[in-house]
Amino acid sequence: SPPASPTKVCVVGGGPAGFYTAQSLLKGSPHIQVDIYERLPVPFGLVRFGVAPDHPEVKNVINTFTQTAQHKRCHFLGNVHVGKDITIQELMQAYHAVVLSYGAEGNRTMGVSGEGLPGVYSAKDFVGWYNGLPCNKELQPDLSHETAVILGQGNVALDVARILLSPLDLLKKTDITQNALETLAASKVQRVLMVGRRGPLQVACTIKVNLPRPRKRLTELIMKTLNEDHRGRQGVKRWGFRFFRSPLEVLPSADGSRASGIRLAVNKLEGVGDAVTAVPTSEVDEIACGMIISSIGYKSLPIDPAVPFDFKRAIVPNNMGRVEETTGLYCSGWVKRGPTGVIATTMNDSFDTARTILQDLESGAINVSVSRPGSSEVVPLLEKRGVRTVSFADWEKINAEETKQGTAVGKPREKLLDVREMLAVAWT
Ligand code: FAD
Repeated sequence: SPPASPTKVCVVGGGPAGFYTAQSLLKGSPHIQVDIYERLPVPFGLVRFGVAPDHPEVKNVINTFTQTAQHKRCHFLGNVHVGKDITIQELMQAYHAVVLSYGAEGNRTMGVSGEGLPGVYSAKDFVGWYNGLPCNKELQPDLSHETAVILGQGNVALDVARILLSPLDLLKKTDITQNALETLAASKVQRVLMVGRRGPLQVACTIKVNLPRPRKRLTELIMKTLNEDHRGRQGVKRWGFRFFRSPLEVLPSADGSRASGIRLAVNKLEGVGDAVTAVPTSEVDEIACGMIISSIGYKSLPIDPAVPFDFKRAIVPNNMGRVEETTGLYCSGWVKRGPTGVIATTMNDSFDTARTILQDLESGAINVSVSRPGSSEVVPLLEKRGVRTVSFADWEKINAEETKQGTAVGKPREKLLDVREMLAVAWT
């Protein structure tokens, strides 16, 4: 028999994992209500702040997420930093089930000396900067040197290389921030080198697993660089790969004030097939460069001391989406399986977690005999703590403002870069 009162599920994080989990739960049972809590006043996670501005077609998933957010049994509550404004335990008391879908907001570091020098950036910050992530708006990357080195050869590294090399006329028509456009307009970067631990065959291996996107992107990168109109520009922009190299040290400039190069170990391969590993030889190589972007991976961070966390794998330990040792707590997306895979991978993974939750509802593993207050208890608690939430209708006001500002300059949107500004527009 159906439960007397609705089954209340809380999703933490309004990125693809959060929205796909919500979508699947709403479809799976007419008794479920879903509240999506998001730290920022704006939804969609890395679809807004990660996906490259020159790939607008990828962002069409926003239309599906919008439909989910507007579903009558779904509510979006932005501007809530879970783990800080409210604890996971408080959410677990207010809801029958809580799903962690908060992505991977940290990044892996190289662990070499000189990493903290000016001129060294993480790809995460650089991407956040050109995509308008509020915490990266002050980055001001120094593009005054001819050579930029990117450590990593994955999809994110390719995105960054493309942004550094793309003709401005192309970027101008995207939703890249005006601030980034101006900095790129003054860029002196002529050469971008992408450094990888292993060789071209190993890159090809990754491509084999994940065929369409990386190959498409590689081809695009080649085509765009080849098609570039060099008139009115100094020199010819070039890019290339450096294989079998691992970072040893970021080299400081003579006065020690900034990075001026990178020392790399030359590697050789050991093992065969998928088990092949890169092992450093005694040979070293140095590249003089004024900018180093480390693109060696995003990393999930613990959200709350009450939630188990596997520091080695940097994920919430789980069994098919059920968080270990914690009944009623689930996870999906990058925090569940690590920061790899495209949106479609995240979608399938989120559908799997939703299926697990529906099974647990069916089996009685989630106890729905007691009604739960959901947001009717959480929102007043947040208000008491001085936190006011942003609804999806509020976000639509931000969306309208950004679209309006974008139209004025021939772009699909001009993102608001400041959380206070977003809130001011949301609550007018
Ligand atoms: P996220 O998208 O990171 O969403 C997590 C959400 O949780 C965020 O909105 C965050 O603000 C919120 N959050 C974090 N902490 C808290 C908290 N404490 N409380 C409340 N909310 C919180 N895939 C493609 O298919 N095509 C592409 O072109 C593509 N390009 C990419 C480019 C880059 C640079 C990156 C990094 C990824 C790209 N991807 C692409 C992959 C895709 O973005 C991911 O698969 C997907 O976004 C992962 O979804 P997620 O929901 O797990 O994480």
